[in-house]
Order: sequence, then C-alpha cells, then structure tokens
Amino acid sequence: MSQTVCILGATGSIGQSTLKVLAEHPEKYTVYAVTANSRIDELVAICKQFKPKIAVVPTELVDHLAQLLKQHQLQQIEILADEAGLIAAASHPEVDVVMAAIVGAAGLLPTLAAVKAGKRVLLANKEALVMSGDIMLQAARQHQALLLPVDSEHNAIFQCLPQNYLQLERENYQPKQGVSQILLTASGGPFLNFSIEQLQTVTPAQACKHPNWSMGQKISVDSATLMNKGLELIEACHLFSISEHFVTVVIHPQSIIHSMVQYVDGSTLAQMGNPDMCTPIAHALAWPNRISAPVPTLDVFSHQHLNFEQPDLQRFPALTLARQAMRSGGTAPAILNAANEIAVAAFLAQKIPFTAIPEVVDFSLNHIAITSADDLDTILDADTSARRAAQQYIATQRGGLA
Ligand code: NAD
Ligand code: MG
Repeated sequence: MSQTVCILGATGSIGQSTLKVLAEHPEKYTVYAVTANSRIDELVAICKQFKPKIAVVPTELVDHLAQLLKQHQLQQIEILADEAGLIAAASHPEVDVVMAAIVGAAGLLPTLAAVKAGKRVLLANKEALVMSGDIMLQAARQHQALLLPVDSEHNAIFQCLPQNYLQLERENYQPKQGVSQILLTASGGPFLNFSIEQLQTVTPAQACKHPNWSMGQKISVDSATLMNKGLELIEACHLFSISEHFVTVVIHPQSIIHSMVQYVDGSTLAQMGNPDMCTPIAHALAWPNRISAPVPTLDVFSHQHLNFEQPDLQRFPALTLARQAMRSGGTAPAILNAANEIAVAAFLAQKIPFTAIPEVVDFSLNHIAITSADDLDTILDADTSARRAAQQYIATQRGGLA
C-alpha cells in the first residue's frame, strides 16, 4: 500500500531531493502535504506535479498562493498557515512519513509534533535535535515514532551500526554492542586550506560554493566554518546515545566515505557513495528495505585517493565550541545553535566577517547562564536569549563593520 508523505521545507534543497526520490516511486509514496516559507512559484510547481492535499505557507502568502492555485485549477488543495499549519500538517492523521527539512530552529515544533504523532520522521533538520536532544528522543520513544537520520553522515553511521542499535536502551551515553568509536567525516568545506588572514576576507558567495555538495545557504556557511560538523557531533551523540568522547571528526575532502563506525575487534565499517542526498533520503524512506534513488553507483576506479586529516581547531574554532556545548549539556547546544543562526544571517547580510561567526557564538555561550533543559519552554527561552545576546554583540562589538 502506498505511504503518504508530508515534506516540511519542500522548496529547499533537501525538499527538492526528496521529491526527486518520491517521483521515482509513485506506486509506493503519495505526497500528502508540502510546506514553504517563500518561493511560492516553486511551491506551485510542486503542487502541479504532485497534487498534495495540503500546502502550508506564512499568512502573508496565503492569498497569493490561493490565487495561483486557482489559476492552475488546483483550488482543491487546502492552504494552512504559519507554525500552526506546519504542526497540523506534520501530525495529520492521514500522514505516514514526515520529512523534517525546514532549516534552523523554525523546524523544532513541527518536527516534534511529527514525533509526538508517532510518525516515521526522516530527520534532516539537525538544528531541531541539537536544541531539544533528550526531549525529542524521549518523545520518539514514548510515542513510538521512528526517527531516522537523513544527514548523510548520520545515515552512514546508522547503516554501519548493528540493525537494532537505535532501539536499544540508552545507557549513560556509553557505546554498545562492540562499538568503540564513531568517525564523523567532514569535507572541510571550501576554505579547508585557507589561512586565518584569508578567512577574514572571504565573501558569502565563496562560502556558499561548496566543493562537493549543493545545499541551502545556511548549511553551506556552517560547512565552511565547520559549525555544521559541530552541530552534527551533537546530533550524533543524541541519535546514537553516545558521549562526544567517542565521536572523532575526520576531514575527508573527497566526501566519498560518509562516516565510519569502529568496533572493539578492530573492524572499521564505512558507508560510501557519490555525494548526493537522494541516497540517504531513499534509505531513510525505505528502511529496513531498499529502493532505487536517482544517483549513479559509485565508480570506485575513478577515486584513486581517499584522504583523511585531523581538523585544524585553530582556524575552525566552531568545532571546539560545539564539543564544549555538548559537554556542558542542558541549554548550551540550544544557545550555540541560536547564536550561530544569528551570526550566519549577519555574515550573509555582510554585516560581520566570516571569522566573527564563532566569536558571536562564543560570546553568547559565555553571556547566558546554561541551565538544565528539562522542558521545551526552557529551551525556547534559551534560544530567544541567545539570539538577543548575539544581536547585541554584533551591534556593539561589530557595529562598525556593517
Ligand atoms: P534550504 O534553505 O534549501 O531549505 C529550507 C526549507 O525550509 C525551505 O523549504 C524553506 O522555505 C523552509 N523554511 C525556511 N525558513 C522557514 C521558516 N521560518 N518556517 C518554515 N519554513 C521555513 O535548506 P536545506 O539545505 O534544504 O536544509 C534543510 C535542513 O536539512 C537543514 O536543517 C540542514 O542542516 C539539513 N541538511 C541539509 C543538507 C543538504 O544537503 N542541503 C544535508 C544534511 C542536512
Ligand atoms: Mg551532513
């Protein structure tokens, strides 16, 4: 029987890749709901092709979308608005699978709603898990949601772990079943070999031009600062119930190995493939089965060299900030994430230089008291305070650079 899919963030890079995979399997999957924050023309094109039942946009775009849908004889599509609409779509009783592909903290409540509704949740929106870690996993357990990693590294780790690993009890963040270490790979981004002086003058356009992956702007900048790897370190700790101590970041510039798992007997398992998000998306959609994805099989003969290096923490301090935030626990990861979102937006708006991004995050982490994160309100308050602190730092310390 066909499964129904809700795509949160359908117009984004992950959303589009998801639609590409779904288009290959019309007999297996039906698109039930799609959401977008902007780019209405693209949303309408998606509606024309996939004929979902629900489309969600911000209130200010509702009338415009209604007009366009009518023009295309698609007025039967129900339009919902804002966060309430996202939550309704993500938890809709008719929906089986939710692709969580909104970028940033904006995805937290809709993703959590999908988890609480017991859906199969394909998690691309790493910021949501970084912010709410234990709460999200507890909710998944309580409501029997299946939280499957779409982030390529976590999907790779998941593929290299024992089959039942996610279902095992969480034991004080200790590795289980003979696992000894997770090797989280990173391409190193477009500035891997730049000096600190060179990093000071890089532009948003340079930062968004990733050597191996084509992605949204925010994650592209995060990949360039290595904050993306820092967020992924936290994501891995939560998803696989493992302390950061057992997660090693490895720079692997070719992005052919998407991460590795090491075992106590000396085995190292790696998942390899062409760098295309359609592979982890197809894997998470079909797991424990396999479906085809529009990605060419890896030609191993065309990859003569696979390199591995230690990350340079001097030039990429974001990685250390994230590791410390995971070690601190509580609201620290939410503060890290919120300050980073503000700093990345300021860099993209050319208000701060690239090298100020980790400075803004560091300031916010030091400026706000870190507390335990037992409930969502505490996390959302920490998010708000961190955004304010980051804005304040940018305005006062970096004001002259606008
Ligand atoms: P993107 O910027 O291309 O797309 C983001 C989507 O979220 C769009 O559909 C946009 O309309 C929607 N959106 C943005 N702000 C919103 C808001 N305030 N409210 C509701 N919707 C909003 O981003 P992306 O590259 O597709 O990344 C999406 C998520 O997936 C991110 O969390 C990212 O870290 C993660 N991810 C992406 C990739 C990748 O290759 N692009 C890989 C791994 C993980
Ligand atoms: Mg990744």
